[in-house]
Amino acid sequence: MAEAGNSRLPGLLGKLGKMTSIRDTEVLEQSLLRTLGPLLGVLDTSLYRTDEQQNMVRVINYHRSKVIEADGVARMVERVEEVSRLNDLPAEVIALTDNVRLLGKPCTRKVGKELLVAYPLFGGNDVCGYFVFQRDREVQAAEDATIRGVLEVFSNYYALLDISQRDRLTGLFNRQALEGSFERIWRVLGRPDHFAEREDGRRTLPGENYWLAVIDIDHFKSINDRFGHMVGDEILLLVSRLMTQTFRSSDLLYRYGGEEFVAIIAADNAKIARNVFERVRLAIEAHVFPQIERLTISIGYCQAVQDVLPVEVLSRADRSLYQAKQDGRNRTYSYHDLLASGVFQEQVCAEAEFF
Ligand code: GH3
Ligand code: MG
Ligand code: MG
Repeated sequence: MAEAGNSRLPGLLGKLGKMTSIRDTEVLEQSLLRTLGPLLGVLDTSLYRTDEQQNMVRVINYHRSKVIEADGVARMVERVEEVSRLNDLPAEVIALTDNVRLLGKPCTRKVGKELLVAYPLFGGNDVCGYFVFQRDREVQAAEDATIRGVLEVFSNYYALLDISQRDRLTGLFNRQALEGSFERIWRVLGRPDHFAEREDGRRTLPGENYWLAVIDIDHFKSINDRFGHMVGDEILLLVSRLMTQTFRSSDLLYRYGGEEFVAIIAADNAKIARNVFERVRLAIEAHVFPQIERLTISIGYCQAVQDVLPVEVLSRADRSLYQAKQDGRNRTYSYHDLLASGVFQEQVCAEAEFF
């Protein structure tokens, strides 16, 4: 058995090498599953990610299967998918991962004739996710050591990548991370199963639509001028905390520039999206800040649809923000409302100033 383990080592090191040359946290996650699945001799592996409150925030399933080509040659194909409905995850996995979190170590559970196995992923001392697979036999000691080793390399490297995607002052995602999210959201929007055919033949999105907002603090320069840069920094931090609390944990919030933020949220329709952004504006307006006391923000937002380029969606939201500033600040403007009311014209092509 030791021999079999050793003969796998060069292959494993090669895979670890590949894994740590990846620069995107998501691709790294996929690569983890791609590394461990074949090593354990299983066709399906999953990665569950949790937030600080231990809610599942992302689930990625990796699946391999054998297909016979036209010329009779068998070939392995793989599929990686992100689960979009996090409310109906398998009950046995939830029960198992609860145990893993409580014990801080791998756990198994019988499912029919097979074993469901879950390993914790650590971020610092906390469990921040689980590696899960199902198999017809127990994990051997050598395999256990390999899994733990690979997960440790993964976690360390993930933390490094994550830091590079975050803003130092606020801990929010930074501008580079935004570009990565764009790709992911446009991929989701482009998935065939994401669209439903309407009776008139037009495609609509069932359930989730995405909305992008550019949020800018009003008259922030005068805060720096009157109270100094240190107070300015503290206010920036407070604003980002208030916004994080007001958005849902599945919403994405970025510090885009100095006192500018970008939020991407999923909402069923325009009315809900408006409510979400208005809630954020009102939360800031109502808060009593130290020294400066009152502060407001302006928001411009636009729906993110697949046939409009990300850069254009961002530009539309930014133009709406600019309009909100023009009209007196402390307001939430929607690009589509501005179009409908004739303030904006459809054919105007905004300058691509964001990328
Ligand atoms: P408006 O309502 O039109 O947005 O006015 P504003 O003063 O907020 O906008 P402007 O773009 O004129 O100024 C933004 C200011 O934000 C300028 C800069 O001093 C400040 N700023 C940018 N980044 C930081 C930062 O990291 N810390 C602090 N303290 N201030 C920052
Ligand atoms: Mg400003
Ligand atoms: Mg600004």
